[in-house]
Amino acid sequence: MAKINRIRTFALALIFIGIFIMYIAIFVFSENPILMSFAMIIGFLSVLSSALVYLWIGMQSMKTVQVICPSCEGATKILGRVDACMHCNEPLTIDKALEGKELDARYNRKSSFNPK
Ligand SMILES: [Zn+2]
Repeated sequence: MAKINRIRTFALALIFIGIFIMYIAIFVFSENPILMSFAMIIGFLSVLSSALVYLWIGMQSMKTVQVICPSCEGATKILGRVDACMHCNEPLTIDKALEGKELDARYNRKSSFNPK
């Protein structure tokens, strides 16, 4: 799955988890104000961090390179050196040195990448 889509799915899941926790706080812990406010804070933080993730995706997507996928010929975005096509999950790279090699997420970590 393309990285941006994956992060978006994660951010969306965080919102639902946050709302779910707050829902539990109100309807399940209503007898216990300490537990309720604790759960409310956790739920609120979850929704808040999701908003931060969305903000971060917005900034990351400015750094992406738009390319035409050679496999499905759709326009997709590459984040980092190696990413997957948004439409067909074809692994793509913008680095000529990696072309034709088996692509792996570890190529995105510059420190561990050792071209041989
Ligand atoms: Zn594609």
